[in-house]
Amino acid sequence: MLAGEKTRFENFLVKLFAVVPLLAVAAAVPLAWGWGLSWTDIGLAAGFYFLTCLGVTVGFHRYFTHGAFKANRALRIALAAIGSMAMQGPVIGWVADHRRHHAYADREGDPHSPWLFGTSAAALAKGFWHAHMGWMFGRDKTNPRRFAPDLLADDDITRVDKLFPLLTVATLLTPALLGGLITMSWWGALTGFFWAGLVRVALLHHVTWSVNSICHMIGERPYAARDKSANFWPLAILSCGESWHNSHHADPTGARHGVGRGQIDISARVIWIFEKLGWATQVRWPRPERFAKLANKPA
Ligand SMILES: [Zn+2]
Ligand SMILES: [Zn+2]
Repeated sequence: MLAGEKTRFENFLVKLFAVVPLLAVAAAVPLAWGWGLSWTDIGLAAGFYFLTCLGVTVGFHRYFTHGAFKANRALRIALAAIGSMAMQGPVIGWVADHRRHHAYADREGDPHSPWLFGTSAAALAKGFWHAHMGWMFGRDKTNPRRFAPDLLADDDITRVDKLFPLLTVATLLTPALLGGLITMSWWGALTGFFWAGLVRVALLHHVTWSVNSICHMIGERPYAARDKSANFWPLAILSCGESWHNSHHADPTGARHGVGRGQIDISARVIWIFEKLGWATQVRWPRPERFAKLANKPA
């Protein structure tokens, strides 16, 4: 199941990239007070937030991990590259971890279950921390040969996987470049880097990690799943539809996670647009009769 250990240096980088954007958010509050935040920064931050969020949700998650649709080659490569710009690790490792999560959801072997330490308040606090970000600080490495052989066999994808350091630099410096060019100032470059680079990465990190922590602890469970996954509506928009997590565990290969009435799922809408454009085919839209069978009977 595992493929050796991360090197000390790799482990250091994971900690660095998980913690530095978080410190930026803490510093953001006083900085925003009256100055240092403009509409340009907000626009850039929102643009990069949803672009990279969709790279992860549509690309890394629904497409690469679960095969919810078939993509043409250009879209396949673009999704791998844009997802990498969320700074959540290279695509192959991300997919391997997430497939392992589904294979062992909330049991021994799940890389990030909040339920591995018991159900007392102290055990759940420890579980929350572990599921949210603590799991990344361990040195276990999911074996990609077992969990992502399809991606290892694709030369384009292994190339994007190796370009991860460069894409990390790009995701931080592009907002700075755009901020500088739009405002024609070094100050605009700096605030662009700060808000649309660091703060945006940190916010998306915590929203993604909340799907692993909160969405396995709190929320509604309308469908039968073998684990503790739950639908947590407050994160529907920020998570681009991924917080309908109980529905996702009930039907993992589905292209839409927000299967109920009025459940906003931006990722599903984007897949729908790709399908209309002819870039995505064989989209696995949820089948109502399947969900009718999975529905939990009211107690
Ligand atoms: Zn899950
Ligand atoms: Zn999944």
